Amino acid sequence: MKYAVYTLGCKVNQYETQAIEAMLRERGFEHTSSGADVVIVNTCAVTAESGRKSRQAIRRLQADNPGALTAVCGCFSQLEPEEVASLGADILFGSGDKHAFVDAIVKALPEQRVDDPFKRRVFEPLPAGAVSGRTRAMLKIEDGCDNFCTYCVIPYTRGRVRSLSLADCAEAARDLAVEGFREIVVTGIEIASYGKDLPGKPGLADAIEAIAQAAPGVRIRLGSLEPTVVTEAFCQRLAALGNVCPHFHLSLQSGCDDTLKRMNRKYDTAGFYGVCEQLRRYFPRCGLTADLICGFPGESEGNFAQTLAFIERCGFLFVHAFPYSVRPGTKAADMPGQLPKSEKEARVRRAGEVIARMRRDYLQSWVGKTVSVLFENGHMGHSGQYCPVKVDDIVERGCIRDVLVTGTDGESLFGTLTDS
Ligand code: SF4
Repeated sequence: MKYAVYTLGCKVNQYETQAIEAMLRERGFEHTSSGADVVIVNTCAVTAESGRKSRQAIRRLQADNPGALTAVCGCFSQLEPEEVASLGADILFGSGDKHAFVDAIVKALPEQRVDDPFKRRVFEPLPAGAVSGRTRAMLKIEDGCDNFCTYCVIPYTRGRVRSLSLADCAEAARDLAVEGFREIVVTGIEIASYGKDLPGKPGLADAIEAIAQAAPGVRIRLGSLEPTVVTEAFCQRLAALGNVCPHFHLSLQSGCDDTLKRMNRKYDTAGFYGVCEQLRRYFPRCGLTADLICGFPGESEGNFAQTLAFIERCGFLFVHAFPYSVRPGTKAADMPGQLPKSEKEARVRRAGEVIARMRRDYLQSWVGKTVSVLFENGHMGHSGQYCPVKVDDIVERGCIRDVLVTGTDGESLFGTLTDS
């Protein structure tokens, strides 16, 4: 049997698709780009645009693979099952139950299963997924979110926080190290809440310690972080491990305190800036990246100007800026002061100019210094700080080498190998 697959959305979705593929391969399925027996779409609902792209992907895969069974899962089908069913989904699951989803595909029976995400209490462990060939693996340690930011549908599609036990985190990391992965990206929907559902309530630092100590020769990179989890003790514990990458992706969303409050974010800009300083104290010159929503309802020109000034002050390596997207059912969808699409897009472009400048400055600050690079193909890899690095020599994939940085084009670093 052959399958074709398309994934939309976040790293967790990518991870889960890779797990689905691994389970299908175990049962003798093969990947194909045409003539599939089953087409699989792992959908996303984080913005209205992702919903539109999810619908488009289902239609496209169906058209490219006439007669194939259509199997759909993910956040968009969790949120809009009737709509997905009307597109001809034979197997329709939400954002949970991936093992049963694969079982249903294998049985090739038309089936619908969208559960109540708020009733999920147990973390569903899935095989770890690989990105960048065999160099970097994702390890999902947490699912769900209890934060209810006013713009976000995720708590309604993923349910409450569920975590992988510390022992299972360590075992999965050990397995990935034995398989030869050189970097593990610790991921989840909201990993800062890791452990609140587990006996004894371990925290994210406990999970990172368990993973880093189980895979001592492997680089450990953290996925998107709520800034509130970063305390002095957290930084101290992570820095002491020695194999945690000096790169932190912080969920910022706005650089204006009024807007953060209306987003129901749990920090203000002073607290966020303190987090950046603390991380830099324990991980000198670390790469900081962030997410930013432009044009949140009621965001005035003055609010947005504050945001631009704030991100510049933080000195990020990169900021993923995107326009606010109305998600029906969320509080922000009913807030006054909704901005026109053109204004939201204009603000993304304005943020883009600041972001490009910050990136250039940060990369330039590495010229003349040495970075440690995990090579993903012959000439290219990423430093621990998550800077793309290119060299002239050909380096074997999966090798970690020291590179002296000789220049930058504002996007990547260029350099020469210094170790032999
Ligand atoms: S923390 Fe906020 S933005 Fe992130 S998944 Fe939870 S509700 Fe959504």
